[in-house]
Amino acid sequence: MRSAYPAAVERLIAEFARLPGVGRRSAERLAFYILKSDEATAMGLARAIHDVKKHVKHCGACSNLSDDDLCAVCADPRRDRTRVLVVEQPKDLIALEQTGMYRGLYHVLMGRLSPLDGIGPGDLTVDELLRRIEKPEGNPGGTRVEEVILGLNPTVEGDGTSMYLADQVKARGVRVSRLARGLPTGSSLEFANRAVLADAIQGRQSME
Ligand SMILES: [Zn+2]
Repeated sequence: MRSAYPAAVERLIAEFARLPGVGRRSAERLAFYILKSDEATAMGLARAIHDVKKHVKHCGACSNLSDDDLCAVCADPRRDRTRVLVVEQPKDLIALEQTGMYRGLYHVLMGRLSPLDGIGPGDLTVDELLRRIEKPEGNPGGTRVEEVILGLNPTVEGDGTSMYLADQVKARGVRVSRLARGLPTGSSLEFANRAVLADAIQGRQSME
């Protein structure tokens, strides 16, 4: 079907429609918002997209989002570098940071194991995590990791991933714990409130 819109407008609609959760109708609404906006607003959005793709990378140690080789957490010498809290996504890390209760480092897996979707350890940053544990040089400050805290989301796949990682980490002689189960099953870290997250960190349980 031929679009009645000028080609440039149609292209913008098509690009918006590719975003998660945005259907054709919403994409049209967004495109018209851009058309109506003044140039500074519209170009500000374009520049923000450009900059995020150009300058944001993944931290070389923990895979958190960063505009440097090491993210702000890994680069901070006041953090306790003997502890590594493993999360699924950068947004989980941000939720935990906002509690102000955790002073260690993180490791962002970039997902979780999901055999049904064909997602295995090789699709995540599992090797990078195990290397950090095996070789202190791979951990910021060259510090030996003494405790790995599993902070995956309380879902079936999150639990499966935790079991897998616990075995791998224990096999390397490092202590493993997991966040306390204050979080309701099926929920996700990013939407938990601060008090619940703070309790989950404080009450973390050892995985023997
Ligand atoms: Zn980092």
